[in-house]
Amino acid sequence: MNQPTASSITCPRCQWTSYNPDDIRERYCGRCHAFTDAILDAQMDKALALARLQTQWEEAIRRTFPAATDSQCVGLAVQLFLACEKAGVDMYVR
Ligand SMILES: [Zn+2]
Repeated sequence: MNQPTASSITCPRCQWTSYNPDDIRERYCGRCHAFTDAILDAQMDKALALARLQTQWEEAIRRTFPAATDSQCVGLAVQLFLACEKAGVDMYVR
């Protein structure tokens, strides 16, 4: 009956910690008005999409600069990626 429960829950998006038993039971963030599992899923989807994108970029760089080493390709992909993200540019390789 009295299942042991966590005494708090911290939101993966806004890092706010709630001690409200309802929030803990429902795994809910009252600040984001979202369930923390859904937030985690969305973050995971985004991380996977970004990882795929970075791989595409590495391949494109490798084709463009055949003499570049692996670490040069990865480094360039990361730099391009961060610059585009900062500038809000569409980063997809077509
Ligand atoms: Zn939150």
